[in-house]
Amino acid sequence: MSGSLSQLQPDLRPFAEDLVRAAGVAGLQPRVTSTYRSHAQQKALYDRFLRGQQDFPVARPGTSAHEYGWAFDMITTPFAALADVGAYWEQLGGVWGGHPSRAGSGFDPVHFEYPGWRSLVDFTQVSEQPQFSITDVVVGAHRASGQQSSTFETIARQTDTGELFYEVYNAGKFVGNYLLGLGWFR
Ligand SMILES: [Zn+2]
Repeated sequence: MSGSLSQLQPDLRPFAEDLVRAAGVAGLQPRVTSTYRSHAQQKALYDRFLRGQQDFPVARPGTSAHEYGWAFDMITTPFAALADVGAYWEQLGGVWGGHPSRAGSGFDPVHFEYPGWRSLVDFTQVSEQPQFSITDVVVGAHRASGQQSSTFETIARQTDTGELFYEVYNAGKFVGNYLLGLGWFR
């Protein structure tokens, strides 16, 4: 796992350098703990997370901004100063994992990422099968609206890690499961 900003995407890197510089000038002793992670590194980290051995949330392998060079993790001293650092990152237009509206399991104050990075990644190259098991909860079901002749039907379901995915049927025949960020999987 790399802690070097040179591993980040060129469009993100100058903003990351600016953030680290500003935190240093403010006397917050910034330390970048993670930038780019390989798929295998993300998987190992995710396995630790599922075993309850990580302090902060870890994205499912294939879906983390770290795997594409679009995010970095940074800590400060004192740790609580990350609130100010995060606010500055948002001022720059970035997405901060510690935003107050992310309270709960998604709260990740050490995480800084590039806005809209998902639209810059070709997720069809991600062939990994999902690492979660599917719970039996049916969240909702609907037919495609506005198309009377549509034979497609989707059933929203939830994984054991709380993510929604869609079971898709065409004329009653199972087509596949679809999850945003992962694409189709069986
Ligand atoms: Zn992160």
